[in-house]
Amino acid sequence: MYFIFRGNELLVRETEIELPDASACAALNLSHDALQQVWLHDPAIRTTHVPLTSEPPPGYAFRKLRALLSELGDRWAVAGRAFQVAEWARTHRFCGACATPMAPVGHELCMRCPACGLSSYPRISPAMMVLIRKGDSILLARHATYATARHTALAGFVEAGESIEDAIHREVYEEVGLKVNNLRYFGSQSWPFPHSLMIAFTAEYVSGEIRVQADEIAEARWYGPADTLPEIPAIESIAGRLVRANLPSGTSCP
Ligand SMILES: [Zn+2]
Repeated sequence: MYFIFRGNELLVRETEIELPDASACAALNLSHDALQQVWLHDPAIRTTHVPLTSEPPPGYAFRKLRALLSELGDRWAVAGRAFQVAEWARTHRFCGACATPMAPVGHELCMRCPACGLSSYPRISPAMMVLIRKGDSILLARHATYATARHTALAGFVEAGESIEDAIHREVYEEVGLKVNNLRYFGSQSWPFPHSLMIAFTAEYVSGEIRVQADEIAEARWYGPADTLPEIPAIESIAGRLVRANLPSGTSCP
């Protein structure tokens, strides 16, 4: 099974969501042995990044991985892992400390520098997501940075030295100027764009008036039982599940 990425796109057949076979890989000058293993216990599943200038073999197309979320079904999780492993292999060819070429360790998914011993594992960046509730209303925000943004919960990366709870309180105050409490864990999801782990919570509103951080948030407001909900994220994402699990009474998904 081959996961061939070009930037944030995955190579699949033009007519259906099928992964390329060995002959399609050969058309891209990719040999099985030269590709990165996704799991050390399963040498059949391999991945790599190809240059952005690569053209798909006949009958195949590169399609945005994110757009394949619902179509990949059970293969989504392995595709996400493959993307992260391929990205790690692409960006850790040389030691970050002494610039010596790195070598795979073999018994674990690790690159080690033969000169100075620096080890590198696939990076995972934890990020918090929080849906704020105020009585029977929820706060939905539209992020400023995504062109096709839907209205969703707040989210942001955990910074060095922070707990996940610290990150929630800091991001909520920075992004919308509110204070919250009663953080409750909802669930988590690997989000390989490029290597996040989304950790989702609900929280209760305590104080403050909404004041959006303009470079992060395009708009944010409370949605209550009498409101028509805006477009929210797809149910395959944890954001979509978090919002659907906390809809104001009487409202339904658009
Ligand atoms: Zn080194």
